[in-house]
Amino acid sequence: MLRLTEVKLPLDHPESEIKTAILKKLQIPLEALINYSIFKRSYDARKKDGIVLVYILDVETTQEKFLLQRFKKDPHVMVTPSMSYSPIAQAPEHLTTRPIVIGTGPCGLFAALMLAQMGFRPIVLERGKIVKERTADTFGFWRNKGLNPESNAQFGEGGAGTFSDGKLYSQVRDSQHHGRKVLTELVNAGASPEILYVNKPHIGTFKLVGIVEKMRANIESLGGEIHFQSRVEDIHIEKGQVRGVTLANGEYIRSNHVVLAVGHSARDTFEMLFERGVYIEAKPFSIGFRVEHPQALIDRCRFGAQAGHRLLGAADYKLVHHCSNGRSVYSFCMCPGGLVVAATSEPGRVVTNGMSQYSRNERNANSAIVVGITPDDYPGHPLAGIEFQRRLEERAFELGGSTYEAPGQLVGDFIADRPSQSLGTVRPSYTPGVHLGDLSSSLPDYAIAAIREALPAFDKQIKGFAMNDAVLTGVETRTSSPIRIKRKADGQSLNIQGLYPAGEGAGYAGGILSAGIDGIKAAEAVALSIVN
Ligand code: FAD
Repeated sequence: MLRLTEVKLPLDHPESEIKTAILKKLQIPLEALINYSIFKRSYDARKKDGIVLVYILDVETTQEKFLLQRFKKDPHVMVTPSMSYSPIAQAPEHLTTRPIVIGTGPCGLFAALMLAQMGFRPIVLERGKIVKERTADTFGFWRNKGLNPESNAQFGEGGAGTFSDGKLYSQVRDSQHHGRKVLTELVNAGASPEILYVNKPHIGTFKLVGIVEKMRANIESLGGEIHFQSRVEDIHIEKGQVRGVTLANGEYIRSNHVVLAVGHSARDTFEMLFERGVYIEAKPFSIGFRVEHPQALIDRCRFGAQAGHRLLGAADYKLVHHCSNGRSVYSFCMCPGGLVVAATSEPGRVVTNGMSQYSRNERNANSAIVVGITPDDYPGHPLAGIEFQRRLEERAFELGGSTYEAPGQLVGDFIADRPSQSLGTVRPSYTPGVHLGDLSSSLPDYAIAAIREALPAFDKQIKGFAMNDAVLTGVETRTSSPIRIKRKADGQSLNIQGLYPAGEGAGYAGGILSAGIDGIKAAEAVALSIVN
């Protein structure tokens, strides 16, 4: 099979033009073309009046050898690399120890699924509820303000990304094609096959719920066990080796192999691990606000007259500004046509995040506008970043009126440093609601100054980004983990054998796809350790 890259066609081309483009590029007659498939489809919107689709195509021909010779100097014609996944090991017939996976976010789910597929029958422990009950609790909090600290946007089946846009892209290096395995399993669990070939795939929140349920059924059908409302409260370590875990209900489960996929909000678990002597260090993360604009403004700016085209969908953006105070501000977790959501897991604290449905057809675009910070901003203890986050989240709760409303301010007022009193044309989507006022005391001064400088700079890239009526809500603190639980090349903790820190909470992933990839790697590490 040959892979052709950079095949560019007009936005509204008929399907037959793909075949024509292949024949033209390879200079072969129709009879020599056996078949083709689209490996990736993206668009190039740099010229708004000439947006083109860019394809990577896999082509079967009768002349493969000859064509490889003919195009040997052309970087856009090559042999299609194999991207199929083969399990790294198979469980022994008599398994003496069943691995434990803590957490059912993308990392834990993929670790468990891979272990189950290799025959290791994992025991999966999740502090939150099954996804249906969790959905009721989370949406309930968004409607009537009753927070369940064990069942919310962060905790429960599916992990943090369940009520999200379900963006599935990542910048991790993935030479072993684990990302493809993640996408393939998501399709097996009900995701649209288009996630395999569109450039920036997304699933949307309601579809994710069904996918998570299907993945649970797959794990169980392969001999895995999943226990909900089973918070791991302690970990047993003897002479530097994990021996098991204790649940909040007192139950002890023995295992020498524990995958720790607890996400970035398991602050109590991080404290317990630190007390038990697991090596943890502080790591950089980011803080800021969510910003909401009319989606139509972003579409117009990115796609011009083609705004609304069915293949382009709702437009996204990615912005960075390096500030005069040395800080960098960037957009993060952009949700086209989405909603800003309440993402706290702790009482008396407010945290924002974003989600979308598959259709991405809500009126506003939102993204986090965040400032990078480092352990120099919260020096001292390895867990100091958590306390730093908590202080900001408590301040946001206070500024929001102590009712779980998010504090908000119009972009124009924020830049001019005056409190906001009433909304303009942009209606914020955050529920329970937005409490307008002054955000300048919600983040450290350097962060406020940086965001104030960045918004007008972003306006130069997206005309209208700094429009008066755009709404900022705060605070965005759970952008990534404030800690790293360091691990060795064999996937095990730096100082504890049998403990496999993985995913976003351990500081080794950021996003659904990279957490899923890291889950596969953790499963492989456990499997190799058991069979060798
Ligand atoms: P998590 O998903 O956080 O999962 C950890 C799991 O461990 C949780 O289910 C938790 O309940 C459980 N747990 C924690 N402690 C314990 C314990 N002691 N015992 C038992 N169980 C425990 N990323 C994207 O790529 N695209 C997006 O569109 C996107 N949108 C997002 C929207 C929202 C609202 C949020 C909150 C996040 C979003 N993210 C998105 C980020 C993404 O969800 C995370 O990067 C990803 O879920 C991390 O996966 P993980 O498995 O490492 O951890």
